[in-house]
Amino acid sequence: MATKASKIILPPLYSVRDIIKLYRLRAIRELSQNFLLDSRVTDKIVRAAGNIKDGEVCEVGPGPGSITRSILRKNPSKLIVIEKDRRFQAPLEMLAEAVPCQMDIIFGDVLTFNMERIFNECNLRQWSENAPSIHLIGNLPFNVATPLIIRWLRAVSEKKNAWRYGRVAMTLTFQKEVAERIAAPILSPQRCRLSVMCQNWCHVEHKFNIPGKAFVPKPDVDVGVVHLVPLHTPVIDLPFEIVEKVTRCIFHFRQKYLIRGVETLFPISSQEVLAQEMCKLADIEQTLRPFQLTVPEFGRLCHAYCEIISKHPTLIRYNSREKQKDEFHLDLQ
Ligand code: SAM
Repeated sequence: MATKASKIILPPLYSVRDIIKLYRLRAIRELSQNFLLDSRVTDKIVRAAGNIKDGEVCEVGPGPGSITRSILRKNPSKLIVIEKDRRFQAPLEMLAEAVPCQMDIIFGDVLTFNMERIFNECNLRQWSENAPSIHLIGNLPFNVATPLIIRWLRAVSEKKNAWRYGRVAMTLTFQKEVAERIAAPILSPQRCRLSVMCQNWCHVEHKFNIPGKAFVPKPDVDVGVVHLVPLHTPVIDLPFEIVEKVTRCIFHFRQKYLIRGVETLFPISSQEVLAQEMCKLADIEQTLRPFQLTVPEFGRLCHAYCEIISKHPTLIRYNSREKQKDEFHLDLQ
């Protein structure tokens, strides 16, 4: 019986460099387009995604298709690409016609695109099971990758979008410093809100860096490749909005005592009392700095915040960044 090769050889194709010349696909600097042309680098990114053979892959931001080719060489059962820039239609269609596997091209914005129905239903897995053989891979502009990971974390927390299919893994590029922040452990100088958010919902691995000179045109910074696999159960099993608000406020004063950030969760008239109550309920020393807290300790603070909110429900709407009236005045006697 014939077995499928683990790696397929693509039919003779123009090189991505030639494609770019042929179709005059100059990278648009304003759109932060930086292309990877070295197949050793794109193969390495795809290897970071794990075993994709016979699985389904969605590549976000394929551009002229260099990572796309590395994915296709790994023989997935299906590849879906989501690209915003219509200029890449012809080279992507040419690739789709040349390869043996199913390749669907979607033109749209990955920030708003819903992947809830694009994969095969037989690949759907329960969250208690192993991760499904569905992989998201992308080298997006930096100004898209960071808002995207926040949106995707929300979708992970709600088991919506691609995560309707189970614990779908992501392999994404970020500016190197952002990749370091995503994976930063407690006490690290890069520890921030993004570290806690990502590590709350996912197992995070900063796989490797790619020097800026590997891209055309060369960006001013180096790039980090991060692999994220959703956890069976988040460390802090609370709604996304609560975790996001509490971590954002606490990291607002990163170098100061954490009580300063906790105070910003509450209106001025009651912030001193409630911030102290919150730290006490959480059993967290208020003179610790935010980067000294583990994710479970953030969890205790989130639960303490919820307890206070249950007593004063209007406070959930309080946002220190917005100018607000004294509708939040509380009588704490
Ligand atoms: N993946 C290619 C590579 O590595 O050479 C291109 C990388 S380039 C940095 C980013 C690509 O993402 C571009 O093709 C760009 O048009 C696309 N892109 C940017 N924003 C997007 C969005 N919101 N949705 C989908 N694609 C987007």
